Amino acid sequence: MTLRSVPRYDSGQVTTIGTHAVVVGAGMAGLFGARVLADGFERVTLVECDPLPDEPTSRKGVPQAHHAHALLEAGRATVEDLFPGYGEDLLSAGGLLIDGATDVKFYDEGDFLAEGPRRIPQYLATRPLFEYIARRHLTDIDAVTLRSGCRVLDYLTDDAAETIEGVVIRKKDSEAERLSADLVVDATGRTSRTANWLTDNGYAAPPVNDVQIDVLYRTVVVRRPPDDRRGIFAPASYPRTRGGVALPVEGDRWLVNVHGMHGDHPPADVEGILEFATTLPVSELEQILETHPLVSETIESYPFPSNRRRYYEDLDQFPAGLVVMGDAIASFNPIYGQGMSVAALEAVLLHHALASGGRDALASRFFESATSVIDIAWRMAVGADLQYSATTGPKPLGAGLFARYLSRLTRKAHTDGRLRDALYRVLMMEIPPTALLRPGVMVRVLRPTRQASASDSTVEG
Ligand SMILES: Cc1cc2nc3c(=O)[nH]c(=O)nc-3n(C[C@H](O)[C@H](O)[C@H](O)COP(=O)(O)OP(=O)(O)OC[C@H]3O[C@@H](n4cnc5c(N)ncnc54)[C@H](O)[C@@H]3O)c2cc1C
Repeated sequence: MTLRSVPRYDSGQVTTIGTHAVVVGAGMAGLFGARVLADGFERVTLVECDPLPDEPTSRKGVPQAHHAHALLEAGRATVEDLFPGYGEDLLSAGGLLIDGATDVKFYDEGDFLAEGPRRIPQYLATRPLFEYIARRHLTDIDAVTLRSGCRVLDYLTDDAAETIEGVVIRKKDSEAERLSADLVVDATGRTSRTANWLTDNGYAAPPVNDVQIDVLYRTVVVRRPPDDRRGIFAPASYPRTRGGVALPVEGDRWLVNVHGMHGDHPPADVEGILEFATTLPVSELEQILETHPLVSETIESYPFPSNRRRYYEDLDQFPAGLVVMGDAIASFNPIYGQGMSVAALEAVLLHHALASGGRDALASRFFESATSVIDIAWRMAVGADLQYSATTGPKPLGAGLFARYLSRLTRKAHTDGRLRDALYRVLMMEIPPTALLRPGVMVRVLRPTRQASASDSTVEG
């Protein structure tokens, strides 16, 4: 499922389901999860190990926050539903609203894509600002309490470890504390310990699929003229192992990122990064770096070894009172910018699972529906990554054929704005990749190049 097919969030659908829910982790998934739980629980406690000052700051528990975070259309529209007024608040705090159809120069398959015919509103900001605005909206809800600077150490259970009954938390330099809860949501990200907890308590761990890509991100922050709102997107794309991105963000800055896959990593010094940028197929990143000063000499790095998916939906046994969401289930090659949007859609699916059956068999119903969103993101990310022979992992069925079709579509989109629009809507998780196989699109993709025209055809999801 994508934005188009996930039923909209409707807080009125949920009646009282329980007294107290605990969400572990105040990253994007935890913030979205806590929002939907607040409709059905008298109290929701969001427990976060990092201290969270009342301002947008990078923090230890979210080391990826230094790097460019694109909010796809699926995420933008869903966050607006979860937190009405989110976009306006983001803009008031300095975030940007750009037109993805014209302001983003998107390079792939040997050229930039044509401008699209339809406006695509896209919010741009640093990850700390995206998170801070969501946190502010969440903590305005009376039922929600944020316990920052508290680490969850363990789950509380009944004697048979069949039901999770809360968590054990500890604030720095304090005694451990027990928090009872009717429901616990694990939103602790990629390093989630739930799989270990399961095996320690006699359960099977979820099967894991690690698709190795060995990508390294390096990011510098560059001063941006206020009226220059260009976004440059030239990600690594088969067969190129190198890529780069420049995203305009608040504070008249660009986050400029270079990255390399399968060990083709950018160096760790400014000179080396500039040199690396000159090897990219577009000159824009190199120009930005050469003609605009750095905000500081700091270089942020993030090694990302693999796409990782834990198949909780495959487990026959799972404790009652526990749900896992966000990166704790699946984390994707960041180049595709899917994680926050997948987490937002998952929160809406959790909302629907609560609305339709309360806490009864909640985890299995939620995992089952979340699969339909994760599958789409996973197939897009892993399908593209598996084109590199160095990428290891099982290939989704039909991935090779689809990748060849997509490659042709992308090349046609260099001159066909409607194909760019169709492709963009898929990449934005607005409509599924199968929408690219509809006759109106296929005809434009498969007809000989010289006959391509701007004649009308729209893509429906
Ligand atoms: C380099 C990089 C770039 C990315 N770019 C994009 C992008 O462009 N667009 C996009 O949508 N996504 C992007 N992502 C993915 C995105 O960051 C995540 O998918 C998304 O934020 C959802 O993560 P999460 O909330 O599940 O986990 P996290 O963001 O990892 O948050 C987990 C939280 O749990 C807390 N925590 C962990 N353990 C405990 C504990 N025991 N007790 C209490 N708290 C705990 C952590 O401190 C943290 O706050 C990128 C990721 C990386 C690595």
